[in-house]
Amino acid sequence: ELILSQVTKKFGDSVVVNKLDLSIKKGELVSFLGPSGCGKSTTLRMISGFLTPDEGKIMINNTDVTHIPPNKRDTSLVFQNYALFPHMTVFNNVAYGLKMRKIPKSEIESRVKEALIMVHLENFGDRYPSQLSGGQQQRVALARALVVNPRILLLDEPLSNLDAKLRDEMRNEILQLQQRFNLTCVFVTHDQEEALVLSDKIVVMEQGNIRQIGTPSEIFDSPKTYFTADFVGVRN
Ligand code: ATP
Ligand code: MG
Repeated sequence: ELILSQVTKKFGDSVVVNKLDLSIKKGELVSFLGPSGCGKSTTLRMISGFLTPDEGKIMINNTDVTHIPPNKRDTSLVFQNYALFPHMTVFNNVAYGLKMRKIPKSEIESRVKEALIMVHLENFGDRYPSQLSGGQQQRVALARALVVNPRILLLDEPLSNLDAKLRDEMRNEILQLQQRFNLTCVFVTHDQEEALVLSDKIVVMEQGNIRQIGTPSEIFDSPKTYFTADFVGVRN
């Protein structure tokens, strides 16, 4: 359902994503693991259409979307830094994508409420982002991504600012939603354990290249390279 072929992105002279080939089936949850700067966010931005690859092609359900803008794809991205609109209330931040899609007002109202309940922020609709904690902002970003019912949900470290208890809760929430709607998910995390429990497949990246793709047990039990072994904390 989601296919990247030979996807490449350069910034100036440096190649930050190098001829990436990746195929993700409908309903799969795939995690990206890799050190800071290896190209995870850049890859997510290309899948969601906020960046255009210099080379290569991105296909969603047999359609070439390489040059299609973000709001015309069936994708939603939760940004690493949330990127909430500071001048809009929580309600309007979450409603934004629905307004863009010309959904009737009464439906917007109920869908935003539902999304805010999902992230445990039902009483925060009137606040502004500056009046929220980091974790609350992160959850608003999650609600904003979910409210448009995307087919492909792209999550760039969406749980990094939550305390352990809330992280567990939100992790389960995401898994449940993913299964309920059979969402295709790409999930960037620094947390090996999180990747282990969440993923159908893990993609290990280093310097713009994929070092290994496999199920969690393949990655953790038989890492193919020293880099993977080292990165996932297995040494043998
Ligand atoms: P992190 O785990 O720290 O979030 P990442 O794997 O998400 O890292 P990217 O954000 O994809 O990394 O960045 C990959 C490389 O591309 C980095 O070296 C970064 O400095 C560079 N880069 C990203 N965006 C730009 C840009 N707009 N202009 C120039 N260089 C960029
Ligand atoms: Mg990143």
